[in-house]
Amino acid sequence: MQLTIPQCLYSQLIQEAKHHFPQECCGYLLGSTQGQNNLLQSYIPMPNTHKTPQTHFAFDPLDQLQAFGILKQKRLQIIGVFHSHPNSPPIPSQEDLRFSFFVTQSFLIISLKNGITFASYRINAHKAKKEKIEILS
Ligand SMILES: [Zn+2]
Repeated sequence: MQLTIPQCLYSQLIQEAKHHFPQECCGYLLGSTQGQNNLLQSYIPMPNTHKTPQTHFAFDPLDQLQAFGILKQKRLQIIGVFHSHPNSPPIPSQEDLRFSFFVTQSFLIISLKNGITFASYRINAHKAKKEKIEILS
């Protein structure tokens, strides 16, 4: 299990997280899947509609529908979800784990606490398993 992130998208995701600080940024990761590995090729930033966006994130159903439209145009699939942790380490919160995800999807967290750290997980039955992140230069 691995998530491969091209250098340019890695930098863009950091900008995304910094731009929304002190609130969490969030969105869909798009790309392709090879075996158990996910390759990031694009992403869709989503408005964070949670009532406490400093520590949580949520997608609006209408925004989700719009995202699915973009997806069709780009001919890519959703390979995961990303969000930032402005003031906490890149570890899924209890609420993060309550989200329902497919185990094939990467759950990427960008932490801005103590510098920038990325961590990605596969979530299955509300349990998170860390996966390897490879940055492609
Ligand atoms: Zn979180």
